[in-house]
Amino acid sequence: MKAYRARLLRFDEDSGAPQFDEDGLLVVGPDATGRPVVRAAGAHGALIDRFPGVAVEDLRDQLIAPGFVDMHIHYPQTDVIGAPAAGLLPWLEHYTFPHESRFHDPAHAREVARFFFDELARHGVTTALTFATSHPASVDAAFEEARARGLRFITGKVLQDRHSPDGVRDETEQSLVDTEAGIRRWHGVDRLGYAITPRFAPTSTPAQLRGAGELAAKYPDVWIQSHVAENRDEVRWAAELFPQSRSYLGVYEDFGLLRERAVYAHCIHLSTADRERMAAAGAVAAVSPTSNLFLGSGFFDYQAADAAGMRYGLASDVGGGTSFSPFRTMLAAYTVGREGQTKPGLSLTPGQLWWQHTAGAARALGLQGVVGNLQPGHEADFVVLDPKATPLLARKTAQASSLDELLFALIVLGDDRAVARTVVNGR
Ligand SMILES: [Zn+2]
Repeated sequence: MKAYRARLLRFDEDSGAPQFDEDGLLVVGPDATGRPVVRAAGAHGALIDRFPGVAVEDLRDQLIAPGFVDMHIHYPQTDVIGAPAAGLLPWLEHYTFPHESRFHDPAHAREVARFFFDELARHGVTTALTFATSHPASVDAAFEEARARGLRFITGKVLQDRHSPDGVRDETEQSLVDTEAGIRRWHGVDRLGYAITPRFAPTSTPAQLRGAGELAAKYPDVWIQSHVAENRDEVRWAAELFPQSRSYLGVYEDFGLLRERAVYAHCIHLSTADRERMAAAGAVAAVSPTSNLFLGSGFFDYQAADAAGMRYGLASDVGGGTSFSPFRTMLAAYTVGREGQTKPGLSLTPGQLWWQHTAGAARALGLQGVVGNLQPGHEADFVVLDPKATPLLARKTAQASSLDELLFALIVLGDDRAVARTVVNGR
């Protein structure tokens, strides 16, 4: 057992409201099965007598917060970040597909996976729902590396059997065999989970989507991840390819891919009916604001999502996204929320932004009570943040007179330099 005395941020699991202790105590130790979990979290004065003899590390000038949860990222696009392109479809063709074609090589996949997980840790991200590529070797490389690091981590083989160049296009029958083999090999091993991963509707044949839906029904606790309604060209293309479906989102629904644990990146150009269908099915949105701003795709409509009862959380969407940093993503989400010309603009509070990247993201993934928060029983994934990491951040946070001011200073001015330590599985 080990304890940390620090400023402590966590969230009410029901309301999502931030809970803050200026002088807090976080106690981490094994649960009944030996897994490292949060044993207690709250005010130091109220808790310390319950843990006599437990070593306490004094981090009183730091802030301990839940590890960040990234709901949508592509590890094979680590080297695609910052690629100049005229929007989504040219960006895929000129940068993404050529890079991804290299992941048939296990050695290349392993090297990128190692760098990717190092980068997540440097930025305080402890759980990610991640695309691999269409090559099974890319999936194995990521799972092996995540397992060695003790991470709670989800990925899956990308399905794309048409409208994709040689080198990344897969074969319908084999792609489904490989997916089921991946589920059996990896899902539920340690902290790992598998996601059935159609790239997006336009790059899958109806047969491949039908097979993916059958696997989604056969393995109901396996995740589904894809993209939907990112930009208008893509929405038009999906409508041409699937004229029978009610909408782009309706394509996934028609093939049995709209259910709990189905995570759709972007969800920008949706109708009210689409949002209501997502909410009713329990499918969720991975809001990817740096990517949407970079590619000029549009603005996620928070008010419409809330009105429909849709769940959502934040994602970097690297390499369409421009940063691994949760701070950059939260700031971009604030900007996207504020935008009031194409939809109602609103001001997301710092607590709401932070929740969307921790406990809210975990809830959207179906991992509430497991990660994304520091309530008793949660797995011991957290970050130690240094509010004095840069001169300007130190100056600004010293003047913070409320939790909102402290968190917003970190959101606007923070980056990897503010992440003093990332603790995964108690280590
Ligand atoms: Zn993406």
